[in-house]
Amino acid sequence: MSGPDPVTRPDPDVADHSPAAPARAVEVLIPLPLPEPYDYAEPPGLDLAPGDLVRAPLGPRSVVGVVTRVREMVGVNRPLRPLEGRLEAPALPERTLAFVQWAARYGADVPGAALALALRGLRHPPPRPVPRLIASGLVPPRLSPGRARVLDLASTPRTRGELAKEAGVSSAVVGALIAAGALTPAPALAAPWPRPDPDHRPAALNPSQAAALAGLERQTGFAVTLLDGVTGSGKTEVYLEAAAGVLRADPEAQILILLPEIALTAAALARVEARFGAAPAAWHSNIAGPRRRAVWEAVAGGAARIVVGARSALFLPFRKLALIVVDEEHDEAYKQEDGFIYQARDMAVARGKIEDAPVILASATPSLESLWNARQGRYGWLRLTDRHGGAVLPEVELVDLRQTPPDAGRWLSPPLVQALVLTLQRGEQSLLFLNRRGYAPLVMCRACGERLKAPDSDSWLVEHRYRGRLVCHLTGFSMPKPQACPHCGARESLVSVGPGVERVEEEARSLFPEARIAVFSSDTTPDAASAQSLIDAMAAGEIDILVATQAAAKGHDFPNLTLVGVVDADVGLRGGDLRAAERTFQLLTQVAGRAGRRERPGRALLQSWAPDHPVMTAIAAQDRDAFAALELAEREAAGLPPFGRLAAVVLASPDPERLEAYARALAAAAPNAEGIEVYGPADAPLALIRGVRRKRFLVRADRNVDLQAFLTTWRARARPPSSVRLTFDVDPYSFL
Ligand code: ADP
Repeated sequence: MSGPDPVTRPDPDVADHSPAAPARAVEVLIPLPLPEPYDYAEPPGLDLAPGDLVRAPLGPRSVVGVVTRVREMVGVNRPLRPLEGRLEAPALPERTLAFVQWAARYGADVPGAALALALRGLRHPPPRPVPRLIASGLVPPRLSPGRARVLDLASTPRTRGELAKEAGVSSAVVGALIAAGALTPAPALAAPWPRPDPDHRPAALNPSQAAALAGLERQTGFAVTLLDGVTGSGKTEVYLEAAAGVLRADPEAQILILLPEIALTAAALARVEARFGAAPAAWHSNIAGPRRRAVWEAVAGGAARIVVGARSALFLPFRKLALIVVDEEHDEAYKQEDGFIYQARDMAVARGKIEDAPVILASATPSLESLWNARQGRYGWLRLTDRHGGAVLPEVELVDLRQTPPDAGRWLSPPLVQALVLTLQRGEQSLLFLNRRGYAPLVMCRACGERLKAPDSDSWLVEHRYRGRLVCHLTGFSMPKPQACPHCGARESLVSVGPGVERVEEEARSLFPEARIAVFSSDTTPDAASAQSLIDAMAAGEIDILVATQAAAKGHDFPNLTLVGVVDADVGLRGGDLRAAERTFQLLTQVAGRAGRRERPGRALLQSWAPDHPVMTAIAAQDRDAFAALELAEREAAGLPPFGRLAAVVLASPDPERLEAYARALAAAAPNAEGIEVYGPADAPLALIRGVRRKRFLVRADRNVDLQAFLTTWRARARPPSSVRLTFDVDPYSFL
């Protein structure tokens, strides 16, 4: 921006004394659950515009907010508090703000709650770059060998610490060279956000992949495409080529690749870097604060072109978002359940619409919602039916536990044990899958029948033998396993009921004492690094039998894995919620898909007590379409998603009487609306968590009614007292 003409520039002293132009009123949205934006006065000279980030006083505090509107101070007759100033950060792009407001409305929540997600990167100060030094060419009066080594090294920029360390001198020696003018600050670093090169290492796509790519490239502007391809068919290759096409067309374009799990990001980052010759920006909750700030600013400023992240990356302030990929789109980890509640896959579609950018939903087992949208023609639908390079899908067989049960107190049936023996003999790897952490999901007293529960919650305590404790998976409460039953006092009466991964590991060790066996669960791999080292060990063939929860079901490629045993295929069917069958189908298909990804054919054995259940027969036949048709027909008959819509209304309070009273008041206040039914209130299945009691309503609505307007009207008619928390969960995934 060029300055004003010097001839007409007002003398600053005169300007200060002239009658000031009336201040403007600035509407600021604050990232807190407040009902609306607040008005402030614009301090002179700030010249704010919507999207600008400002510091504003809020009660005794100072908060960061975003300007949503600036207007002349007409009709404002109360004095407004002045803003404190503008934040040193790029403004929030207009479309990001529009998205935040849209997402809040969809969730029947206040915009400030969604904004908190979009401004999460700003909570930390920007990283301070360590200044680097370079030789100025000036020769100091005394040139000792140490000084000479430093100057030699400083022909390329290095920090003070690096120079001292590498030259083997003290920091004082470097200091003296600075004082003498022989070392000067080096110009700023080259951009830390290298540009991805779309032609760095393009993939040679096979014909069906090339056809899918052509399908994607026909899209311009907003369009949603379901990339529906079996595991190993090359969906990742295809969407990376689509990203390359976007970058070729516009080098300033930005691309977002969403993944459901932090554990998957390391592999994805490496793959993007290999393809484009430049590391993408990573975004998830394990990224350190200052780094997050740097990524946030680079995304807002446009320097970060490719972002690989977990669900909250969807709220980053992209300047020119030109493609969104949601990988493993069916994964329920895309649903954020606390704080601001949202489903990142669905919100990605909304964001794509606002940004006028295409959205790719990729999965081997798409959600029924996406399949249905594809069938209706609302989404494009590209299918990859074969594994790349002729790798074959595994044979899936059901083991009928009624016919061939395991021995008493054991969990692996004779056919599965036999398959493990053969796999070990061939020097290949096996995966035993059981989606239950710990040793046993329940501890019971043989004398009185008591099931041990946490003192302040409704869930059973899970026995963890490694840690020697009983743990509540809901709240993290834990205690040592007692010697006697806490209920009847009987000694030695507590028995472990059912298997967890630790118990299956114990059984595998007793069967195969020579085998190398490891457990993969969030207990054995608490962070991304430990998960990665276990994955690496498995990929390197250092493990014969991996006993794993769903942490290992996703996306990893183990070339020598040829047997998958599903210990309890029925486990997901017992939940009885809306998506129980769908979840079971997806999970088991994904797990079975781990077997035999390369030249070796794989085998998957599913142990089931209900092998005639339609979900089981569809999985065994690997008949996704038959399963989807069955399940969609049931949902249609009941008006359930995707044919109708649901919202959960959850009330929580430590005070049971106030909770009851408010639940009654809310029930009485439900608006009468065509096409909407309200069920409840009922005690939540988990009615007590950490001493907080919970009640729920379930709302079912036809697709064409405004569910959000219904919810907000309802809340306005019966606002909760301060002792009760009211949460709306639109499109709920959890029914607990
Ligand atoms: P998906 O995402 O569908 O599971 P990937 O893209 O990960 O599949 O592909 C599976 C494996 O096959 C990967 O190791 C990938 O590099 C390889 N692959 C897929 N397509 C090709 C191709 N056209 N050329 C070379 N390797 C490929």
